[in-house]
Amino acid sequence: MYKRIFNHVKKIIPRISETEIIALKSGGTSIDRYIFQGKMDYKTLFSPIQKHELSQKTKDNVHSLLEMTGDQNIYPNKNSHTIMKELGKRGFLSLIIDQHYGGNRMPIELQSQLLSKISSYNPSLGVATMVPNSLGPAELLQHYGTESQKQYFLPKLSSGEFIPCFGLTGPNNGSDAVGEIDEGIVEMVNNEIKIKITLNKRYITLAPISNLIGIAFKLNDPQNLLGKNGITLALVENSQTGLLLQTYHNPNNAGFPNGTIKGTIFIDPEQVIGGREKIGQGWKMLMECLAVGRGVSLPATANGSSKFITQAIQYYIQSRKQFNMNIGDMEAVREKFIDMYLNTWIIHTSVKLTNHILDSGSTPSVITAIMKQQTTERARNILNHGMDIYSGSGICLGENNFFTKFYNASPVGITVEGSNTLTRGLIIFGQGLNKSHPYIFPIFQNIQDNDQLEFKRNFNKMVKNILQNYTHLLNPLPSFQTQEDPKSRLERATLKFSILANFIALMGGKIKQKQMISGNMADILSNLYLGYSLIWYHHHHEGHTILRDACLHSLMQEAEYKMNEIVSNYPIFILKPFLYPIKNTIKYTTLEEKNRLYNYIIHNEELNNIFLEDIYYKGTVLEKLIKLSTFDKSSNEYKSLYQDIIKVGEYKI
Ligand SMILES: Cc1cc2nc3c(=O)[nH]c(=O)nc-3n(C[C@H](O)[C@H](O)[C@H](O)COP(=O)(O)OP(=O)(O)OC[C@H]3O[C@@H](n4cnc5c(N)ncnc54)[C@H](O)[C@@H]3O)c2cc1C
Repeated sequence: MYKRIFNHVKKIIPRISETEIIALKSGGTSIDRYIFQGKMDYKTLFSPIQKHELSQKTKDNVHSLLEMTGDQNIYPNKNSHTIMKELGKRGFLSLIIDQHYGGNRMPIELQSQLLSKISSYNPSLGVATMVPNSLGPAELLQHYGTESQKQYFLPKLSSGEFIPCFGLTGPNNGSDAVGEIDEGIVEMVNNEIKIKITLNKRYITLAPISNLIGIAFKLNDPQNLLGKNGITLALVENSQTGLLLQTYHNPNNAGFPNGTIKGTIFIDPEQVIGGREKIGQGWKMLMECLAVGRGVSLPATANGSSKFITQAIQYYIQSRKQFNMNIGDMEAVREKFIDMYLNTWIIHTSVKLTNHILDSGSTPSVITAIMKQQTTERARNILNHGMDIYSGSGICLGENNFFTKFYNASPVGITVEGSNTLTRGLIIFGQGLNKSHPYIFPIFQNIQDNDQLEFKRNFNKMVKNILQNYTHLLNPLPSFQTQEDPKSRLERATLKFSILANFIALMGGKIKQKQMISGNMADILSNLYLGYSLIWYHHHHEGHTILRDACLHSLMQEAEYKMNEIVSNYPIFILKPFLYPIKNTIKYTTLEEKNRLYNYIIHNEELNNIFLEDIYYKGTVLEKLIKLSTFDKSSNEYKSLYQDIIKVGEYKI
């Protein structure tokens, strides 16, 4: 029987390319494994935490930097080089570089706090700080560089003498990053081995002001001079003959340097990151670093902007009057604000958990993909709701418009480091199925190795897990039945997701095309992870359970709806009846519960302080709004500041 199953599975498993295998093998797993198993392991989830808080000295350092730069775009700007030098001098370009090489390495949680603060005030500066501290020359050198490369480049990257960028994308290789990538041919030039690379890169952040350029290319060695081929990463200084950094893009007026890298250059094999030994290993190196990278910077940016916007809108709706009442007392406005608040809290708690997981040494690739996609997407929703509420003042430019800078920058996070449409539709669940699922990848490997004995063992384990979960679903334990309890609701959804994931896996390779199903599965998986982030956060921080529960119900409402949609559209008809127990009767939050929540959060000093801690707001409209809230509403000072706050920019015709 097992032989027949073995042959059938062999037929339905998707053909996986070399690049996909490398992507699948990169990074590790964390609590995503338990979600796929159908039951959270709370001992692992609640493993001891190390508290990290930015020192007063670092905070002062950030604050004085922001005072110096203001919230102006840093590019085009005649001072952009000075600003980058300043970032280097203050140690903000080397948050991932070891002290040994002159860096200012700090725990992920502190990097995240620092980036949130900068991005909450000046998103363009946030991008410029983020890029050298994410996937790029410094990260790659630290992991794979030769010792002499590390000693030469890292201290100069730390000080800001080298401003790095990393060029992968070109006109014909966007999401398919290494598809039609630039080529490098190995040739003999004056009796020396050289690699001739024809470059045509676009969208490269920091390129217009960069003097250390990381490049990815496909190496071809037709004469077998180096004996290796494949995706390769190299470092080039801007003095390199033939290198052209001549044009820049304008990404939606978001105000950071972004541009092209062109030209034909000849480099030495020693310029390859990691030297000759690492030729052809580029894709693996990129994937391994991306597994962590995308879980930190973009979520931190989303965290900063969301907190600023939600806090400002919270104060605004309590003072802005129309129809002789505060707009916060109008339910249509309130409803949008509550949605903003819940999503901001979800971003806050998930960023904290993810930082903790990464600081513990795990490199979970699926979780970081979830974080990148979910936080940037939720931040965009927060921004859109906030802009609707701030209305005309959020549309017209002027001193009190704090929206445009976030609005311009918002699509950047959505598009880079794996565009969200692709990440949601293909990567999160697809990679989850192969990586986080405890048995599927081992089974895949057994088939590749033609190992029928191991296949039988793993297959049996998988069937046992499915049967256990299914029995559990049909005979719920008493603790499971209280649908009103949000934690039970989360656990029940986890069980259902696990069963559903196995049924979807039976679709085999077709899942790659069925991205509407895969995307919905990604949403469920993401919401479960975000749900456990809330459980984790509130386990370590007392209070505010009303907020936790509201977030959990909202996440589960979304997840249950998606499950119903998947069950209704499940394409293997013969198996469909087995999925009916997965369908949900969705419990929606009542309007009374929403109003109760609003009254809880609106005057909650403790929550306000948590929001304000991660952002910088000196001299902004938020500072004015906070001041306004301390004045007597009938006083002249209140009236005058109110008029100042609602003022919109006016320009001479
Ligand atoms: C402001 C900015 C900064 C950037 N910085 C850098 C940088 O520093 N270095 C660098 O190398 N690159 C950088 N990029 C490039 C960025 O990574 C790419 O824009 C991104 O990979 C998407 O490529 P594309 O824009 O060509 O879109 P396309 O690849 O053409 O994609 C178009 C759409 O199709 C979707 N799609 C594509 N394939 C699939 C699939 N298989 N399944 C489902 N959906 C799919 C995408 O999600 C997207 O929605 C930057 C881009 C921008 C805009």
